Amino acid sequence: MNLKVMNGLLTPKSVAIIGASSTEGKIGHTVVKNLIESKYEGGVYPVNPKADEILGLTCYHSVSEIPGEVDAAILTVPAKFVLGSIKECGEKGVKGIIIITSGFSEVGEKELEKELVETANSYGMRILGPNIVGVLSNSDNFNGSFAPFLPLNGSGSLVSQSGALLIGIDAATYLRGVGFDKLISIGNMSDVSFADTIEWLDQDEKTKCISLYIEGFKQGRKVIEVSQKAHKPIIGLKSGISAHGAAAAASHTGSLAGAAKIYEAAFKQAGIIWADDLNNLFDRTLALSLQPPMKGENLLIITNGGGVGVLATDAAERDGIPLKFAPEDVQVELKKHMPAFGSAKNPVDITGMAGTEWYVDSVRYAIAHPWVDGVVVLYCETAVSNPLEIAQGIKAAVDEAGVDKPIIVSYVGGEKSENAMKWLVENGVPAYGAPDTAINAMAALRDYARMRELMDVNDETHHEVDREKALKIIASAREDGRDSLTEIEAKQVFATYGLPVTKNALAKTEEEAVKLAEEIGFPVVMKIVSPDILHKSDAGGVKVNIKNSDEARAAFKTILENAKAYKADADIHGIVIQEMAPWGTEVILGSVNDPTFGPTMMFGLGGIFVEVLKDVTFRVAPVSQGQAMRMLGEIRGAPILAGVRGEAPRDREMLADTITRYATMILDLSDEISESDANPVLVYEEGKGIKVVDARIILKKK
Ligand code: ADP
Ligand code: MG
Repeated sequence: MNLKVMNGLLTPKSVAIIGASSTEGKIGHTVVKNLIESKYEGGVYPVNPKADEILGLTCYHSVSEIPGEVDAAILTVPAKFVLGSIKECGEKGVKGIIIITSGFSEVGEKELEKELVETANSYGMRILGPNIVGVLSNSDNFNGSFAPFLPLNGSGSLVSQSGALLIGIDAATYLRGVGFDKLISIGNMSDVSFADTIEWLDQDEKTKCISLYIEGFKQGRKVIEVSQKAHKPIIGLKSGISAHGAAAAASHTGSLAGAAKIYEAAFKQAGIIWADDLNNLFDRTLALSLQPPMKGENLLIITNGGGVGVLATDAAERDGIPLKFAPEDVQVELKKHMPAFGSAKNPVDITGMAGTEWYVDSVRYAIAHPWVDGVVVLYCETAVSNPLEIAQGIKAAVDEAGVDKPIIVSYVGGEKSENAMKWLVENGVPAYGAPDTAINAMAALRDYARMRELMDVNDETHHEVDREKALKIIASAREDGRDSLTEIEAKQVFATYGLPVTKNALAKTEEEAVKLAEEIGFPVVMKIVSPDILHKSDAGGVKVNIKNSDEARAAFKTILENAKAYKADADIHGIVIQEMAPWGTEVILGSVNDPTFGPTMMFGLGGIFVEVLKDVTFRVAPVSQGQAMRMLGEIRGAPILAGVRGEAPRDREMLADTITRYATMILDLSDEISESDANPVLVYEEGKGIKVVDARIILKKK
């Protein structure tokens, strides 16, 4: 990122408005008006060949006529004039082009849009847009957009792929009391995209939290990379997660890999906090932009009402910060600041009789106590208390404690409470109208700290592999005109990357089958090998626990008959004889080649867990051992691997190691593999390893 150029684009010291207009209602007019009304102090240069003056400002007939430097040009001219304007700007030495005009890739004009970028970049300029609202910055008094006014001032900044939503959010900031410093509309992301804006906002001193409204990343891996390096919280609201080509997927993994799951995985790896919806984006942005991360697990709730206390307790458990009872010394001290019928356990109930003093005393003590990692204060408006005075007291108590721990407040009440909450927010304390919202905001601060603590688990894992060998196997299948590998071939590729697969041998005749079975050693498993039969059991193509030669002969015949009955013209390569793996916990590993993030891994428990409960989790490859261990821990069925009801724990180390190898494989062969799975993989007791008993690889169409 060229900082000078990006600064010129997003915080320009002077702007030209190309397509400025004297006609009210036109975008070229609104932008000039907005720059004046926002009290922008930089140079404002309207450009229009037909006007000499617009809104009291000198209008230039071309960019070249403008005296002095121009940092950014805001383009509002019709699409057909955009390219010409960019060239003029390039000659003038402009740094950034903000293209409000639409009519490019969003209506299929992809080539034209590409040309804009190539031209701008050839002059060293960057483009924001096209098809955007513009850029707004409170700290620069800069409304370089056609949104009506600057947002309520705040310390977060928002990047939005939707222009209309950005305008809506802009206006809504005043009603919701959640402000922003900068609003950046990125529209078609022809050049500057999420990755660039994250990188830039990370170094912007005025931005304390980066909020994203995402329809789809363009460079998914780049976003992960820059987010991992960011020094401030990033929160993302991703839309369009309901259907994602799942129907067209060829493999099991493909059908389970919806956009929601994959974006969730990418967010985890990137350290981006998830927003459930627009309300949640506002609420969590407020907390993340005003409060420090919650660096431990101990949350203390102080309340004047049992009801809100219980609601908050429920929410805390749901959002992953379950309450614990406060230690003895904390309870003893807090007991001094409440009536006898209060409770100091957690939630700390200072009762409906509580006035300012009890609130202040308990907050001051609690937030300074080493056991406490974060405090949520709940208040129900009563006749014996003064909401604003309590707010001011809480703030003073926190300041006095001078600790780097988060505090969040919730008021349930009327107008007085509303005013008190407004005061709190203006003074840096997030306040919400419902206890569960307050808890969810605190959970965002906890999630942020957790993600930062876990960043080191992204360390890359290196595996020595024989890539050429794998490519040969794939090439020979392609020579056969196939776009999938047989189980035998897929296992050979897996083995190249160090995945523990069963021993296999291909038999073409009954005699061969018997011989190979004897070599491998009974009991064996026999399965059909045919590129036309992907799901072998469905075709009666799998026989397990074959104990002797007679059974092997019989199985050979039956499997062939079944296969022919299933699909008369199936191309049959033969029958695979494999060692019969002892029974273990069934899991599934798989991969997809996601259009946004590329090769992505899936892990889940096998059998009904994956079929019915879809209890799976994803990571964008590569996957480190640490991340793989986290994957094992985050599915609902995790206790099954950890060992439940006296069962020994499973070999999670080995399973995680296999995940890292699998991830290396799909990354290494990303030009070849479209989807794949190992289903099932059998996992044994700790120290006893795992075994891949079935393998499937679908190739990319070439
Ligand atoms: P498909 O998924 O194509 O129907 P699989 O190869 O997964 O075929 O076989 C079906 C089932 O048979 C597996 O889920 C597993 O329970 C069992 N199985 C297959 N191969 C082996 C093996 N080598 N050892 C033990 N069990 C096996
Ligand atoms: Mg299978």
